[in-house]
Amino acid sequence: MKIGALKESHEGEARVGITPSSTAFLKKLGHEVFIETGAGEKAGFSDQDYEAAGVTVLPSAQELTDGVDVVVKVRQPQDGEIGRMREGQTLISHFYPAQNEDLLAKAKDQGITAIAMDMVPRISRAQKMDALSSMANIAGYRAVIEAANNFPRFFTGQVTAAGKVPPAKVLVVGAGVAGLAAIGAATSLGAQVFAFDVRPEVAEQIESMGAEFVYLDFEEETKDGAETGGYAAPSSPEFREKQLEKFRELAPEMDIVITTALIPGRDAPVLWTKDMVEAMKTGSVIVDLAAEKGGNCELTEPDQRIVSENGVVIIGYTDFPSRMATQASELYGNNIRHFVTDLTPGKDGVIDHNMEDDVIRGATVAHAGEVTYPPPKPKVA
Ligand code: NAD
Repeated sequence: MKIGALKESHEGEARVGITPSSTAFLKKLGHEVFIETGAGEKAGFSDQDYEAAGVTVLPSAQELTDGVDVVVKVRQPQDGEIGRMREGQTLISHFYPAQNEDLLAKAKDQGITAIAMDMVPRISRAQKMDALSSMANIAGYRAVIEAANNFPRFFTGQVTAAGKVPPAKVLVVGAGVAGLAAIGAATSLGAQVFAFDVRPEVAEQIESMGAEFVYLDFEEETKDGAETGGYAAPSSPEFREKQLEKFRELAPEMDIVITTALIPGRDAPVLWTKDMVEAMKTGSVIVDLAAEKGGNCELTEPDQRIVSENGVVIIGYTDFPSRMATQASELYGNNIRHFVTDLTPGKDGVIDHNMEDDVIRGATVAHAGEVTYPPPKPKVA
């Protein structure tokens, strides 16, 4: 089949869905590979790099779409990008179907198959295709780098002839994929790291990474993991009160706060309130990775870097993976080529869209003129 990557239309998006190195794998599966001219430029891959890898470069989005069977993108499609497609074509990209009913309807009407990389089931077998994790890992790391870049002190403690430097104190709120990556990056820079999550089972992981788990003096009845798919459920008001009380106690001490707390299908919980920001030291930094979902910090403004009245920098960027576009494209390109591997069981360039396969079924949000979201629960854990 012919597979091609569009140049991202979202302003400022620097990632690309196929890289010169992922091309080699797609070709081994028997596919022909195409890109829209300039698609990889912001990620550091020129048209010549693609051509050297055996990719055909097409001059426009329309010609790319017309020339391929499978269109690959990073961001969720724009209405017009689906509109350009023809019946029977496949789109692979982020999609966020729960928030994009109109796009789902458009995909159905257009008769395309839409594969949502954000819907890949989070089961062991599908880890190599899990774009949410590969991108969250980058976001967590980059959040620490942005924090360090805005922090007027060392992260690591030092004893120098000119004086003693204490290590920075970093609090990570939410220890999922992004939070754990942030813990890893902050400890490797030498900071003293504290972390909190509503899922007590992550305490061991946090401690094994050299960080300190922040315990609450409160027992919440936790939901069975199978019930929540391993994700967090909303906390009770009593638990939340205890959590805020703990954060209020920590706020004056913490130099850096990185928040990543999310609950699927909901707005981000507000956990770092205005009074906590006011209690922090001048020069402290908050990086709010939940900014796109409204933010964990009460003062966060999505896509902005603001400075509070008491001199705390609050970063609400929503494009952390794109800020590391080369790496992010390579990892996303790998997620895609692994997905395409499962779509090409014969390795003969023929796509078999097997809706009996849990992973393919889970990620397919529109197929054969139907909306196929939400999927049934996967059988294998
Ligand atoms: P996420 O982005 O949905 O949430 C980030 C973190 O915020 C989670 O750890 C969550 O518990 C935490 N959180 C929510 N509300 C909070 C609050 N009020 N206070 C503090 N923390 C709060 O999560 P994620 O990073 O996508 O991962 C969620 C789960 O999925 C984890 O258990 C992870 O290990 C699991 N996972 C499994 C696989 C796999 O098996 N293939 C892949 C990726 C993730």
